[in-house]
Amino acid sequence: MSNQFEIEAGSGDCYDPNVEVVKIRPRGYCHGVVEAIRALRLAADEHEGEPVAMLGYLVHNEHVTREFAERGVKLVDAPSRLAALDEVTEGTVVLTAHGVSPEVKERALAKGLNVVDATCSDVVRTHDLVQRLTGEGYTVVYIGKVGHPEPEGVLGEAPNLIHLVQSLEDVDSLELSSSKLAVTTQTTLSLWDTQAMIDRLRQRFPHIEVHNEICSATQERQQAAVEAAKECDVVIVVGSARSSNSQRLVQVVSDLANRPAYLVDTVADLKPEWFVGCARVGVTAGASTPTVLTREVIAYLEQMETPEEPGSSRVGAAAVAKPESHLPTN
Ligand code: SF4
Repeated sequence: MSNQFEIEAGSGDCYDPNVEVVKIRPRGYCHGVVEAIRALRLAADEHEGEPVAMLGYLVHNEHVTREFAERGVKLVDAPSRLAALDEVTEGTVVLTAHGVSPEVKERALAKGLNVVDATCSDVVRTHDLVQRLTGEGYTVVYIGKVGHPEPEGVLGEAPNLIHLVQSLEDVDSLELSSSKLAVTTQTTLSLWDTQAMIDRLRQRFPHIEVHNEICSATQERQQAAVEAAKECDVVIVVGSARSSNSQRLVQVVSDLANRPAYLVDTVADLKPEWFVGCARVGVTAGASTPTVLTREVIAYLEQMETPEEPGSSRVGAAAVAKPESHLPTN
């Protein structure tokens, strides 16, 4: 693309040293995260002074987790939600936006815990779908990420009837003979990634029913990021490395818009060398990223001068001090 801030030959006066920041929309908090945070804040207020535990990360963002730790909410993280529940013996337990298996819910109630269910309504819809399909005798292929809590919860609906796949190789190795087959997806995956696997499944099992469950918040953020990235030189995704949807934003920008994309947790992670020669920088954020962190990144970039190639005499981004990031208030 043309660089609208290039120095014209023989003139230094018209040079604009600042990058243009494209604030990609929609970005950041989705309705599921907003509702989950609200539910946990309410539980922390109502049960102040009593034990309140969060079963795994409420959302995959360290800053949100830290905010609640400061309010006395205990994070219980373990390889599975069931294992985490073993560590909760009293008080209130909050189930995260990612959802849990029916077994986890039943066991929490059997232990006499006060259960606050903050499962996102979009995840609940996938659970309902899988319940209905398996109840009608379907075998279900579930496209999701091994080790992520959302597939763990969905697979728990009917462990013997659901097959988790996360790559084309996994799809190729499936041995399924059922005449009633369906495929569905983790809500936070990339639309384009799942499409390749769904296409392969259709080739192998032409009768398979497709239920794409990628949530609209994820889809809209990915589509907006790809479209905007085509007009940018580089894209910054603000989000935690633990966040599946933030990582997917990086992936779709780099694979589909063919632009460099970097994931940063806070403004402190930005590196001047990413912006050498850049005129337009896109900024987006994962669905679990606190707004304040994205605002800090945007504010920093807006006052940053485009760094020059090494050896240039002009002062670049290093001249602007990066602020310390602070905890979110929303
Ligand atoms: Fe719900 Fe989608 Fe947000 Fe996950 S990313 S919490 S499924 S709205």
